[in-house]
Amino acid sequence: MKKVVLITGSSSGIGASVAELLSKDYEVILHYNKGKDRVNNLKEKIAKETNSIPLVVQCDLSKEEEIDKMLDEVYQKYPRIDILINNAGIAIDTTFEDKTKENYKKILDINLIAPFLLSKKIGPKMKENKYGVIINISSTNGIDTPYIESIDYDASKAGLISLSKNLANYFAPYVRVNTICPGWVNTEMNKNLDSDFISKEENKILLGRFANPREVANLVEFLISDKANYINDSIIRIDGGIKC
Ligand code: NAD
Repeated sequence: MKKVVLITGSSSGIGASVAELLSKDYEVILHYNKGKDRVNNLKEKIAKETNSIPLVVQCDLSKEEEIDKMLDEVYQKYPRIDILINNAGIAIDTTFEDKTKENYKKILDINLIAPFLLSKKIGPKMKENKYGVIINISSTNGIDTPYIESIDYDASKAGLISLSKNLANYFAPYVRVNTICPGWVNTEMNKNLDSDFISKEENKILLGRFANPREVANLVEFLISDKANYINDSIIRIDGGIKC
């Protein structure tokens, strides 16, 4: 049987690209929150390309009871989840003065607490099965702190790196846990950036452009594969070479 992969936030951007790429060799489970039409389009595309209909599950990751319901649904179809890709995330960029406790907490709930809960609920079964891989999609913002406007996002992504390292320790030697830190990627998350700002940022990147989601998906594909069997507890930047 193919390995089973749960990808959070797979209705758009990096998550959708990861799901499509992995669907050729893995049983992918497409999680979404609000992008129902988009995730259904992706489901149909994958079904056509692979002759296998992926399971689609919905939940708001900021709500633990919804996470539990989603996992119940998954375990009705599959005995286990072999690979977890914690990809879903949000950013709420505002001036420092406009930052609020509510938004700060919302970002932490989705970007950090949800990966913690999913890993806590799925990881022990991986350990029991003596096999598992967890990939956490953090950000270069979890290492660098370029803009005060993302002070909350940066903290959530730095926290995710810390979470990954703790999980790698705790679930060793059976579960490999790695963190990917993308720089700028062309997705909806950046759809409101103005062109002057984009040019300024592109000038700081040695490759002179933002990544496309598939380039991040390629790294995910490699890291979950057996070719990366000895890569564990690592933080891997994929940013085209950013010179701040
Ligand atoms: P995106 O906005 O296309 O994807 C984010 C996904 O998270 C969406 O599918 C969305 O539905 C899901 N999501 C948001 N809130 C949710 C909730 N409450 N419950 C469940 N799902 C929810 O953007 P993306 O760029 O593809 O982002 C994917 C990941 O990559 C995020 O964790 C993001 O922080 C990270 N990242 C993105 C960039 C970038 O420049 N785009 C850079 C570094 C890291």
